[in-house]
Formats: sequence, C-alpha cells, structure tokens
Amino acid sequence: MSDLDDLRGMLRGRVLVAGEEGFDGASRAWNLAVDQPVAAVVEAADADDVSALVRHARRSGLTVAVQPTGHGASGAVEGVVLLRTGALDGVEVDPVRRIARVGAGVSWGRVQEAAAAHGLTGLPGSSPVVGVTGYTLGGGLSWFGRRHGWAADSVRAFEVVDAEGERARVDAVSDPDLFWALRGGGGDFAVVTAMEFDLYPAPELYGGAGGVGRLGGVAGAGGVFRGHGRGPGGVDGVGEPAHPGAGADGVGGRHVPGW
Ligand SMILES: Cc1cc2nc3c(=O)[nH]c(=O)nc-3n(C[C@H](O)[C@H](O)[C@H](O)COP(=O)(O)OP(=O)(O)OC[C@H]3O[C@@H](n4cnc5c(N)ncnc54)[C@H](O)[C@@H]3O)c2cc1C
Repeated sequence: MSDLDDLRGMLRGRVLVAGEEGFDGASRAWNLAVDQPVAAVVEAADADDVSALVRHARRSGLTVAVQPTGHGASGAVEGVVLLRTGALDGVEVDPVRRIARVGAGVSWGRVQEAAAAHGLTGLPGSSPVVGVTGYTLGGGLSWFGRRHGWAADSVRAFEVVDAEGERARVDAVSDPDLFWALRGGGGDFAVVTAMEFDLYPAPELYGGAGGVGRLGGVAGAGGVFRGHGRGPGGVDGVGEPAHPGAGADGVGGRHVPGW
C-alpha cells in the first residue's frame, strides 16, 4: 500500500489518486489552460483532516499545496498533494461586533450575501467567486480599499494548521510574527482553516458596468464610472458621488449586495 493509499484510512474527506475516476475533475484549476499534474487530491472534511494530512505528509515526505478554487493556479504542482478546502464552508456574521468568521473554502459572494443582510460589507475584490482566504493572504485589494485598506489588515485572527500539523488560533497577541506574515505574505506559512475579520457599514452601493461603447469607448468610460460610483457615505475609489439610476443602459442604481 502506498503513502497516498494510507491517507484514506486517516481522513473523513475524499482522497483521489491520479488515474482514479473523478480525479481529473477534482484536480482541475479554475483556469482550464493550466495543467495540474498533481499526485493526489485531498478534499478535507474539516480542520482535523487538514491536521492529519499535514502530519502524514511530514512523515512520508509528501508536499501539500492548498488550492480552494485554483484562481491563482500556476501549474507548478507536479507530484504534490492538492488540498481542497471547499467543505470548510461555514459563514458566521456577528452584526453587533461587526465580525465575520468564515471557513477556508468560502468565496466572497457568500460572505457578502450574509453581511449585506445586516447592512455590512467585507472587503471583497472584483469577483464573488474568488476565495476569501487566498485573496486575503495575498493582501486583498478591494473596491473599498481607499477607505478601509487591504483586506489583510482587517483580519482579527486566523485558525491554522502549522507545519507540524498542530492546530492553533493566531492573532496579534498569540503569535505576532506569524500573524504579520499571513497578512499579505501568501499561503506558505501555514494552512488556514478559518479566518475572523472586520465588517464595515455599507447600507447601499450603486454599481454597474456597460454603456462604455455607447458613450464613445474609453473616452466615455470616466463619465460612466462617475455616474455609477456612489459608495456608503461618499465615494470609495470609484469616482464622484452619483445620483442613483444615473448609468447608461439601465444598470445604474441597481442594489447589489456589496459590490
Ligand atoms: C476573476 C478574478 C478577479 C480578481 N479580483 C481581484 C481583486 O479585485 N483584488 C485582488 O486583490 N485580487 C483579485 N484577484 C486575485 C485573487 O485575489 C488571487 O488570485 C487569489 O490568490 C485567489 O485566491 P483563491 O483562493 O480563489 O485561489 P487559489 O488559486 O485556490 O489559491 C491561491 C493561493 O492562496 C493560498 N491559499 C488559499 N487558501 C489557503 C489556505 N486555506 N491556507 C493557506 N494558503 C491558502 C495558496 O498559496 C494558493 O496557491 C482576482 C482573481 C480573479 C481570478
């Protein structure tokens, strides 16, 4: 029995080894042009699975790469065990403390839906399908960035599995160095299983795209974005205060949950 086969008895989640049915789909990146010649895919069921995987990888000399969505896939994963975090999908919003706790498999769209129900927003980027954790570990440049800074700077705490396979809660007091490194340094310092971060008031946002061609291409684009750019309490990087419904093609003034 191989080291990879051994894993099956240690985890609650699925282990798919190259050549097995379902492996091709499970190992595919979001960008289909990127080939991912990984040795196996592990779909962790929970944080304990992540811990067991890391411990086993240490003992067996395996390399683990975390990839919730594959938005940042480069293809440099030959022979590694690809860790999927999709089942770590919890989203909790505390509207009083204005804090969200999300699992490492959650994408921004779900956070924004949960936060918008309370007139709050996280600091997402341009796409609802980008993973919250991967985005934030890389810094996270949001449409709200001018007002609230990098998404990484709004993190209160990370729940991680370290290189020994130990679980820990990391914040500015418990481990300042690791907390600093995780906020912008990428995913090489620990496997994150969940994060807590600040939410911000955002009672409404008018946004949209379209009409650029109708207004004369790039030259007209500034006018379109100014026309659509009203953020909470003023403007957050998208132009001047606008009048709702001002956009071309009937898309201006439509309420959207957070972007
Ligand atoms: C359509 C689109 C729009 C985007 N818009 C923006 C934007 O507006 N602003 C912006 O700042 N960025 C933006 N990005 C870039 C995006 O933030 C990065 O590609 C980010 O790395 C994607 O994270 P992911 O988890 O979805 O991708 P993945 O490729 O699955 O993961 C990326 C990397 O994050 C790390 N990682 C992920 N999860 C964990 C974990 N649990 N533990 C440890 N490491 C982990 C790993 O190193 C992994 O290689 C955009 C990307 C796309 C595809």
